[in-house]
Amino acid sequence: MGQTVKHFIAGEFSDGQGQHRLAITNPATQGELAQLTFASRAQIDTAITAAADAFQTWRDVPAPERARLMLRYQALLKEHHDELGELLAMDTGKVFEDAKGDVWRGIEVVEQAANIASNMMGESSENVANGIDTVSYHQPLGVCLGITPFNFPAMIPLWMFPLAIAAGNTFILKPSEQVPLTPVRLIELFIEAGAPKNVVQLIHGGADEVNYLLEHPTIKAVSFVGSSRVGEHIYTTGTRHGKRMQCMMGAKNHMVIMPDADRRSVVNALVGASVGAAGQRCMAISVAVFVGDAKALIGDVVAELRKVGPGAWDDASAAYGPQISQAAKARVLSLIEQGQNEGATCLLDGSQATVDGLPDGNWVGPTVFTDVSPDMSIYQEEIFGPVLCCMNVDSLDDALTMINSLPVGNGTSIFTNHGGAARKFQHEVLVGQVGVNVPIPVPLPFFSFTGWRGSFRGDLHAYGKQAVRFYTETKTVTSRWIYDGDLDQTAEPNMSINLR
Ligand code: NAD
Repeated sequence: MGQTVKHFIAGEFSDGQGQHRLAITNPATQGELAQLTFASRAQIDTAITAAADAFQTWRDVPAPERARLMLRYQALLKEHHDELGELLAMDTGKVFEDAKGDVWRGIEVVEQAANIASNMMGESSENVANGIDTVSYHQPLGVCLGITPFNFPAMIPLWMFPLAIAAGNTFILKPSEQVPLTPVRLIELFIEAGAPKNVVQLIHGGADEVNYLLEHPTIKAVSFVGSSRVGEHIYTTGTRHGKRMQCMMGAKNHMVIMPDADRRSVVNALVGASVGAAGQRCMAISVAVFVGDAKALIGDVVAELRKVGPGAWDDASAAYGPQISQAAKARVLSLIEQGQNEGATCLLDGSQATVDGLPDGNWVGPTVFTDVSPDMSIYQEEIFGPVLCCMNVDSLDDALTMINSLPVGNGTSIFTNHGGAARKFQHEVLVGQVGVNVPIPVPLPFFSFTGWRGSFRGDLHAYGKQAVRFYTETKTVTSRWIYDGDLDQTAEPNMSINLR
């Protein structure tokens, strides 16, 4: 292609001027898609200053007008849905329907951002003391920063900048350096929709650029989505520098299968949830916990997984695409080997998978382990590949103990026809997103998306309508107005609690 990946700084699309340069490749072919040069310090400073200046006027643009920008943006994203899906498929290797799904889930957040005028409404109470009223307003914070991972290059940037900007902030997006092409197109379309110059900035970079941004005093709030290792670092650095933080991090998601669960639903759900998107989802099911006799289903699951495999983005028979990079593939293969060395039984080994006509893709076939114990690396680590660990327990209580003992708690599900078992599970499991007969329970953006325990740090108002709470300060105003001289202006209002 020979193109360079553009930054969007101070209202202009421009090349990076930093030292670090890398080739962006298609993970299904290793073919070069573009060259990316990271931003220089001077470019980052320019972006921050431009965003800070823009905030001074953008914060006063009426909320309905900011909402209208989101309506225009939503329409443009829909118009370009196929084109964005194809670009995203090149960037990530995702199969077309999955790539379009990534874009669609982002469009739904833009729809949520279009509700900003009502979501910005505060509270009010009249006569809190004699002649005194209190109202609260939500006011934007200033310059916000978003740092996003490789696995959803449309949806996750769209979780952040539309809501933050609709709330009256300006925004700097630092997407994953592994998949920069889709975010550039998202920003182009945002500008085409009429976003004012400088309201959004797009900076490409890696750890150094992120660290510089995190320490910069002008940045007020940071939304991060990515791995636990990086997220912990970002959370501590950001909070140390006085920023409001939300970090959505790594996962290890279990599906509990009760003996009474519907056989066909379990098998279908496990196939899609374990290997879909090549297992590169923070909500992928990577552990199936079979309770009692439910373990009889393992053979059926393996039989179905034998029938599916990876392939090219436009191959309608492919279940999923490649791992994002050769390094990611090597890591998955090394974990598969470790699983075998540590004594798990590999019922299906996808480490030698190939795809006709695409010999250089980062392919890994569906892989299933049984006889997995909690101390093994394949259980402890987030594999982020199409690998399913099957565990057997005697009771729902044992399943709950296992899930609640892990340090992370992003998503989980239970398959059962027993209302009491479902109720007990949803009530007692220490996990943020819970599915009952639903394998990947990602909520729509009128709800929040938050992992529990090690899957999340910071402010819980993530992603949906509630994100307005994250991207704004609440200001309460208590006022006392005199009219017709009927109040004594000199008297002290009594706002203390009267205990008598
Ligand atoms: P990652 O943590 O490697 O990268 C995420 C972002 O952090 C990128 O923009 C990257 O440039 C930046 N980064 C990387 N190293 C850094 C460092 N040392 N200092 C500062 N910034 C750094 O994550 P990834 O591999 O791109 O994405 C996969 C991970 O994201 C998985 O663990 C997955 O579970 C997680 N994820 C979580 C959610 C969620 O909602 N909880 C959603 C999607 C993905």
